Amino acid sequence: MSAAPSDPSPITLSARARGVRSSAIRDLLKLTEQPHVLSMAGGLPAPDTFPTGALAEAAQGLLADPATVQYATTEGLPALRHWVAARCVAPVDPDDVLVTTGSQQGLDLVVRALTDPGDTVAADSPGYLGALQVLQANGCRVLPVPVDEAGLDPAALEARLAAGERPRLVYTCASLQNPTGTTLPPERRRHLAALADRYGFVIVEDDPYSALRWAGEQPDPMITLTGRAVWLSTFSKTLAPGLRLGWMVGPTDLLAAVARLKQSADLHTSSLSQHLAAAVVTRPGWFDHHLAGLVPVYAERARALAAALRSTLGDRVAFAEPAGGMFLWVTLAGVDTDALLLRAVEEGMAFVPGSVFHVDGGGTDALRLSFATLDPASLADGVARLARALG
Ligand code: PMP
Repeated sequence: MSAAPSDPSPITLSARARGVRSSAIRDLLKLTEQPHVLSMAGGLPAPDTFPTGALAEAAQGLLADPATVQYATTEGLPALRHWVAARCVAPVDPDDVLVTTGSQQGLDLVVRALTDPGDTVAADSPGYLGALQVLQANGCRVLPVPVDEAGLDPAALEARLAAGERPRLVYTCASLQNPTGTTLPPERRRHLAALADRYGFVIVEDDPYSALRWAGEQPDPMITLTGRAVWLSTFSKTLAPGLRLGWMVGPTDLLAAVARLKQSADLHTSSLSQHLAAAVVTRPGWFDHHLAGLVPVYAERARALAAALRSTLGDRVAFAEPAGGMFLWVTLAGVDTDALLLRAVEEGMAFVPGSVFHVDGGGTDALRLSFATLDPASLADGVARLARALG
């Protein structure tokens, strides 16, 4: 909308809104949505895994009942809260489960509950871009904590704490991390939990991917190790992201504060989405059966991508074979991946350059490839195009 002719001055945005900036790379990624581009850039889950039949069937009956589309409680549908509590490996009271509008909202609300503008938040580096945006939007100062092949390095965090840093919270995607695919092993989880207890910060464990694991052990979430942890998860990768259904499990008092903030944000998460999901996932055995069909789809695509990278690019690339999730993190020694993206788009493929996942200018020789939405042949074709872009 253009400004009215009588409008004398431009609209002044808040510091908060100005803090969330677009970047040249993010703008370039918009170009990757053209039909001829094989995009391995996006974070979309595989649409062929969405249980549209089961959801449609559930919708038929549900929509006959007006309660399905009535206002509901902020905390969420009891059936869903019970389901989450019952599936959690930790002993969780359904009252300590809050349904959120995607885990993204959970993250935003917990950051708002725990920080004031200017407060420090430690976060995975490289880390999930959407989390970095939440932190920027809330005026937090981000303290990057290096992620190596075993996830966030608690020793590096401890060194920063010993030097006087006092983060209010530590954000980590500790299982099948976005973007690197790494999983924090139990000993690192215990170390991190001990640091939280000693220095008084809260660990926010963002866990959208552990349900998509096909290899390796899944360690228990951090809420089993300390009372200073929050666990966020979602149906976005297991049912469908457009339902916008996530949840938060955490300490009772913190959850009550988060629920008050949620009330002011959106009153409650969509009743229709909650009823739909609950009707499907509470059928005995349904969810495990669904996962048993979905996980092999991702596993096959990940193996196809890894095989194509090995056969086409050989020792020019370094990567770890994914154990689950949706992403493969590749290091290309000596290559500027920001510049490579321009050539890759010209060749008809796209990825996300590593710099996007860093707040401190790192990751310029890395890139993230998503294997979620392309079939094995298209993944091999995408790698061939990447190889041409590399020259
Ligand atoms: N956290 C991580 C690490 C993610 O990768 C994503 C999705 N890209 C989200 C949170 C957001 O998930 P949701 O759809 O549940 O808001």
